[in-house]
Amino acid sequence: MDTTNDLSEQIIELEQDNLVQTYKRPPFVLSRGEGVTVYDLDGKAYLDFVAGIAVNALGYGDPDVTAAIQQAATGLIHTSNLYYTAPQAELAAMLVEKSFADRVFFANSGAEANEGALKFARKLAYNRGFTDKTQVVCFSHAFHGRTLAAVSLTPKEKYQKPFKPLMPDVIVAEFNDVEGAKAVIGDRTVAVIVEPIQGEGGIYAVSPEFLKTLRTLCDEHQATLIFDEIQCGMGRSGKLWAYEESGVIPDIMTLAKPLAGGLPIGAILVKQSVADAMQPGDHGSTFAGGPLVTAVAKVVLEKVSQPEFLAHVSDVGDYLMERVSEINSPLIKEIRGRGLMVGVEFTVEVGPLVSKAYEQGLLLVNAGENVLRFVPPLILEKQHVDILIEKLTQMLGEIASE
Ligand SMILES: *Cc1c(COP(=O)(O)O)cnc(C)c1O
Repeated sequence: MDTTNDLSEQIIELEQDNLVQTYKRPPFVLSRGEGVTVYDLDGKAYLDFVAGIAVNALGYGDPDVTAAIQQAATGLIHTSNLYYTAPQAELAAMLVEKSFADRVFFANSGAEANEGALKFARKLAYNRGFTDKTQVVCFSHAFHGRTLAAVSLTPKEKYQKPFKPLMPDVIVAEFNDVEGAKAVIGDRTVAVIVEPIQGEGGIYAVSPEFLKTLRTLCDEHQATLIFDEIQCGMGRSGKLWAYEESGVIPDIMTLAKPLAGGLPIGAILVKQSVADAMQPGDHGSTFAGGPLVTAVAKVVLEKVSQPEFLAHVSDVGDYLMERVSEINSPLIKEIRGRGLMVGVEFTVEVGPLVSKAYEQGLLLVNAGENVLRFVPPLILEKQHVDILIEKLTQMLGEIASE
């Protein structure tokens, strides 16, 4: 791509000289956003179907989020968890009111929320007097994060291999395979962790039957059932929580990505039985649940949980699914997902398509080699879907004829 702006070139060079090179980025520098569009330093617009990886649920420049940040910034930004602050308690109360949970623990990111969830499950087993109950069950295609424990539950060779030994006693079972789950979950199982709709692994929705089986098995064997709704939760599926679709209730649910409108946050929502296992000093965080992030999260949760807002997500999500299904390309293999979490599996790698899309003013992201994942801001409108379909159809035509 032609990067004409000197400033962009300077910044890219600065990044390449100074950052640990763990991210491969396209050759432009984003500088501002409005609604569902972001702009680079050259002023080029990109229609955003990524939303900072399913984070920016309210898009860019939401007036209520901006006001909440401004107001919170003039008050306390950080106090540590040594002290009470109002927004933290109020956000917890909102999360409890709007979910299965009885109590909340705050973290700073998704991986950290999952780490905490594992510690909670282990503490519960410890309190019950178990000495050999340490096995954690996760599933094929799962993604639970990059810290050592979270990556241990993320069965992807590339993510795990250089970092071994990982957390021991993890078993990977086949996603959505009822018999497979029955074969591995037993008395040594301390926790079972599952994404109700898998994100990074390729947008696979769990079957209600599978979730029900996991619930039954966890009850039988006193194991903690953890739903990782870090990506699929908070309205993305068209319901506030993706688990609502199945009617199955977890013991713990982890949240992060969209909860604070782009500010870093994680949350561990738990039943009373799990909360009872934790005493003062058992777990903690310096930053987590600070007054600024939680004040902003209150605003985001309030907006996203409105029935009209969720109906909008379902409506535009259905339209996206319908329009994508109409694309007539031999390269498309399967279309999956719910709400505004849609995956399109191709017969080819999608990297070149993502690169081509930048030129077309479109931000796209993959989920694995062959899957294009649409996780736009939840304020997306049908007209934006039409633009996506037009550009995608054109690009697929070009790729097919190359
Ligand atoms: C992104 C993600 C995580 C990890 O969150 P981080 O904030 O990047 O640590 C965990 N689980 C799921 C399902 C995710 O999508």
